[in-house]
This record gives sequence, C-alpha cells and structure tokens, in this order.
Amino acid sequence: MKVLVADDDFGSRLVAQAAVEHYGHECIVAADGSSAWELYKQHRPQVVVTDLMMPGLDGLELCRAIRSAEGDSYTYLVLVTSKDSHEDVVAGMHAGADDYVAKPLDPFVLHTRLLVAQRVTSLHTDLARYRAALAEQARTDPLTKLHNRLKLSEDLEQLHRKCARYGTDYSLAICDVDNFKRYNDIYGHQAGDSALQAVAASLTGESRQSDGIYRFGGEEFLFLLPGQSAAGAQTRLERALDAVQGLGIPHSGNPSGTLTLSAGLSAYVPEHRVSSERLLKEADIALYAAKSAGRNRIEVAPEARQPTRN
Ligand code: GH3
Ligand code: MG
Ligand code: MG
Repeated sequence: MKVLVADDDFGSRLVAQAAVEHYGHECIVAADGSSAWELYKQHRPQVVVTDLMMPGLDGLELCRAIRSAEGDSYTYLVLVTSKDSHEDVVAGMHAGADDYVAKPLDPFVLHTRLLVAQRVTSLHTDLARYRAALAEQARTDPLTKLHNRLKLSEDLEQLHRKCARYGTDYSLAICDVDNFKRYNDIYGHQAGDSALQAVAASLTGESRQSDGIYRFGGEEFLFLLPGQSAAGAQTRLERALDAVQGLGIPHSGNPSGTLTLSAGLSAYVPEHRVSSERLLKEADIALYAAKSAGRNRIEVAPEARQPTRN
C-alpha cells in the first residue's frame, strides 16, 4: 500500500516512516498539513497517518479535505494523538478518521492498523468495481448488448445541453424492423431474437466512434449522431439500412424477401432549435411516414430539412 505520513515532529515522522517501510509499504512523508494535502492529491495514497497538531492544515482539516475529495476510492485515515486526549479522538472521528494511535508511536500498533486499512480499502475497491459493473449492466440491453433507453436518455440530455450551449448540430433517427411480427410468426421467436442480434451487430459495425446506437424498444433502434445535419445523417442511415439488407436474412413476409429497416429522422439545426423530446416525436412521425410510404426507406422530418438557398 501507499501510505502518507504527516507529522511536523522529525522524530515521530522517522519512527512512523521506518515502521511503514519495515512492514512492506511504500511511504511518503510530509512535515506539515499543507504539503500533506498537496502530496495526497498527487499520489492518492490508500492510507494517511496524520498528526493532529501541525502548521498549515491541522490533522482535522486534512481529514475533512481528504473525505470531500476522495470520490470513488477510499482513504483509510489514522490519527496520531497524545495519550488520554479523548476529545481529540472523537473530534478526529467526526472529521472522517477511521482509527487512531497514541503517541509515542508503537511500530507494532501501527502495523496492526495498516492490516485493517488493507482490508477496508480493498473492500472499497471491490465495491467500486461492482458499482461500476452494475451501472453498466443497468444501461445495457441483454439481448443485443447495445446501450438501452436509460443510457440514451442520459446521453441525449448531455448532447442536447452541449449543442444548445455551443450552437452545434446533431441528428437523431429511429429505425424499426419491417414486418417483424410476421418474421416471428413465420420463423419463430428465437429466430427473431437472433435476427435482432444480427441487426444490432451490423449497425454497430457500420458506425463511427462518435455515433450512439441504442436499443430503443422491441425491434426499434435509435441513432444519435453528434455534429450531423439532416443531410449528413441521412447518408449515414442509408449506409446502415443497406448494411442490414446486405445481411440477406431471409424474410418471406417482407416484400423484398429479406429483412429490412425503415427510419425516421430529425435534426437539431440552426433553423430548428427545439427540445430533444420534440425531435424524438418528429423522428417517430417521420418513421410512421416511411412505413406508410412502403417501408425499407428513410423519411426526414419536414421541420429538420435545410431550406434550399439560392
Ligand atoms: P412494421 O413494419 O409496421 O414495423 O410492422 P411490425 O410487424 O414490425 O410491427 P409491430 O409493432 O406490429 O410488431 C413488432 C414485433 O416485434 C412484435 C413483437 O413480438 C416483436 N418483438 C419485439 N421485441 C422482440 C424481441 O425481443 N424478440 C423477438 N423475437 N421479437 C420481438
Ligand atoms: Mg415497432
Ligand atoms: Mg417493425
């Protein structure tokens, strides 16, 4: 472990450093509270062993500063206090300390505290890892492995805010598998699941890093295209629809004989700065128009079309 020792007394500092290193840890030392704080930010040690009374920040202020800055990681904080100073110990615990050792420091006692610190910090590391994995799982569709609607709502809100602030464009499009109910009826639900997986993989394979592709609903996929006007987005979508048709998944209940998609798109462009909810609604209406016009095509919301300039 990385251990930061903060003490303004040279002798105490030396004893603590020797103990930390003797028991196999890496030791960083600071002679006052302010440099301890700087070293903490720079090295992010797992453990801080700090004296209470120091020039600059005192031990309590250092504990509070660390607790408010540590984020997802956990720092085990050990106070070094004079004997019988119960009030100091309680104040230290309130400031965020996990434990204390009395002065003069007994190297063996510090060793036992570091063993506990190791267990506690490694539990926190595991916890942070599980939390991140769960957060990712909650945003992933299990069938297609695409991001789901929850992630879309977060990404869309963020993208919209950014584009509104900087006056930049983005497009969004809803794609929907054509005659998919019939596909399930003809080939079975399991084949339907496999087809959705193949469509998702094809859309992802076609996409650029900056594109967002989400499973929006049952057989619906949503594209978020930062920096794209309606015309640019239409070109991207034409490639995506061609790629899916190019898979050649047989679909005898679809006029083309293979599985196809229809899409409706709208765009956040200078002539059309509306809410993201409005764009979703327009894309949905455009999708409906694409279906009515015969499917296997893209319709652009009239509001998002660029006016032709002479
Ligand atoms: P349209 O061309 O107008 O979109 O017709 P459609 O049949 O695709 O549309 P509809 O909304 O009537 O049917 C969608 C079908 O998609 C019905 C539903 O059973 C199927 N579906 C939705 N999610 C899944 C899924 O996860 N797996 C499978 N196999 N089918 C699904
Ligand atoms: Mg649908
Ligand atoms: Mg459909």
